[in-house]
Amino acid sequence: MKCAFCGYTYEQDEAALVCQGCGLFGGCHLTKCPRCGYEQPQEPAVVQWLRRWRARRAIEAATRER
Ligand SMILES: [Zn+2]
Repeated sequence: MKCAFCGYTYEQDEAALVCQGCGLFGGCHLTKCPRCGYEQPQEPAVVQWLRRWRARRAIEAATRER
């Protein structure tokens, strides 16, 4: 997740810590930038999935090299 306002990159669960005004995260379908507080729509699920998949691949590759 990248803030469209200040460019800060953060994770969805990081934003959930900030978003306490609306109870359960996911109810408002907005994420809030931990740095500047700018609210924007969540990334599409497919984008999140792709990013997690790439991160997992990177971890696996690093593990194999040890
Ligand atoms: Zn921001």
